Amino acid sequence: MEYPHTIKVGNKTLKVRKWKAKDRKAFKKEIIESEGNNSDVIITQNLVYNCIENKNIALTDEEIQYVFTQLRKLSVSETFEYTYKCIHCDYDNKEVLKIDDVSKPVFKEYKPIEVQGYKIELQDIKNKKFYEENKDQFDESKELAFRVKSINGDMSKSFNELVELFDDMDIDIFDKIYDQFQDMNFHVDNTHECTCKKCGKTTPFEFDEIPGFLPDSWYK
Ligand SMILES: [Zn+2]
Repeated sequence: MEYPHTIKVGNKTLKVRKWKAKDRKAFKKEIIESEGNNSDVIITQNLVYNCIENKNIALTDEEIQYVFTQLRKLSVSETFEYTYKCIHCDYDNKEVLKIDDVSKPVFKEYKPIEVQGYKIELQDIKNKKFYEENKDQFDESKELAFRVKSINGDMSKSFNELVELFDDMDIDIFDKIYDQFQDMNFHVDNTHECTCKKCGKTTPFEFDEIPGFLPDSWYK
């Protein structure tokens, strides 16, 4: 089996394989050639999509980041070392944390959104190429439009018509719709509380980046 593992990303189940030597080779080559630019694109191609069976599945940046983290867990280690100075007693803590403790998926199954005469059915983003060409993290109308299956039973609206419809809504109605969507949409909770080994007090941390995520040798 070429893709023997599965990763659940919200409601989607992906078939994946671990990183191979050729993935690292391509990653290193491109990182060196690009002199450190475009590392997100290079990672997304070589260390995420190359390892997913379905290359055409549309994933948001947050979903890609989550899959990347899960592949690291599968391919390198489930844990990582974290050192921090306790803010209460100055003790230098060295902890071994689990990837899953600092990368927790949060989502709900899509249910129809019903707000003031609108009934909106949602679905996963369908067209990866179209999504990648048109996505805009600052455009909430687009974010919704990518996922609309139907509005009041109507499935015939084009993407642009949907964007226009959302843009034209009164702000209070739009916000209610958007809030319901955000409540269901996949995101990652990367907060974790560490307990000091000396004084026993806890400190919350946000793990936007996981230290030692890729072994140092990968960059040599
Ligand atoms: Zn302490």
